[in-house]
Amino acid sequence: MFRRLHARLIRNVKCKVQHSLVNQQCIVYEIKCKLCDANYMCYTCLRLHQRIDEHKHSAIAKHLRDEHNLRPHDLHEQLLKICRGKLECLISEMLLIRNKMPTLNT
Ligand SMILES: [Zn+2]
Repeated sequence: MFRRLHARLIRNVKCKVQHSLVNQQCIVYEIKCKLCDANYMCYTCLRLHQRIDEHKHSAIAKHLRDEHNLRPHDLHEQLLKICRGKLECLISEMLLIRNKMPTLNT
């Protein structure tokens, strides 16, 4: 009796995870400068192209402008983690920043 209930619970959880993976909008990612070792990590719950637009005003844009006298027209983003929600994004971003210590996340 208990075992059957448990199996059903697991099935429900799996179903929820698969469903939310379809909407891959909450992600943590890293942007690297092509000209030096500078990197920057952040999360977004927007679509990726919207977020790239936002980078024109971000720390990596400021870095390109100040350090290399460049405009941030082709930033290279690397996906680090797909999350199931904003809270998981916040936690993952915090842990990744603590582990990898990207130079522009001060
Ligand atoms: Zn640089």
